[in-house]
Amino acid sequence: MEANDWVMKGKTMNYWQYPPQLPTQEEVEAFEDGLVETIPAKLLELYDRKEAVADLVQRKADKAHDLDKRSKIFATALLAEEYREVKIIEKWIKYWLFIQRMIEKRTDPLVEVDLTELDIAQAKAHPFEQIFSNPILKKNRKYQIGLCPFHLEKTPSFTIYLETNSGYCFGCHWSGDTISFRQDKDHLTFKNAVRSLI
Ligand SMILES: [Zn+2]
Repeated sequence: MEANDWVMKGKTMNYWQYPPQLPTQEEVEAFEDGLVETIPAKLLELYDRKEAVADLVQRKADKAHDLDKRSKIFATALLAEEYREVKIIEKWIKYWLFIQRMIEKRTDPLVEVDLTELDIAQAKAHPFEQIFSNPILKKNRKYQIGLCPFHLEKTPSFTIYLETNSGYCFGCHWSGDTISFRQDKDHLTFKNAVRSLI
């Protein structure tokens, strides 16, 4: 694993190698403890680097914009290396995400288990105000109001109805229960949203 570590190759050079073949299930198991720790850090660095390169490409492209035709062709050719780097970074991101998924499937048997009616009922009963990410600015016995997480606003219009444990925004008209809130807010599938609430 270490020999293929992008960090070792990537930090000092501006063109990298593509990721190697994906490891087997046995290899992942053997390196699992280390991988669980390092994959999130690797992903963060890759996302950061991708953003930095994309930024550089944009700045160079902006500069090239005002050049004459011949210089423009030259400047564009110079950008090819950065484009290549972005492609390679994307491949590495996919690579680590795939391995992360392999570990999740192995260590968390629930990933493959279907939800029961009880799970869904429990998820819907999870107190809405506990998962609402913004501060509650007004409240009484029946409802609580805060800034809507789904649209930009200065005066709060997101209302949590305690009786039905549901939410409605008078600004953007989002409405739903705890499950759909989790789905929309955190971009989760229905199944993962339910699992995050029980
Ligand atoms: Zn809203």
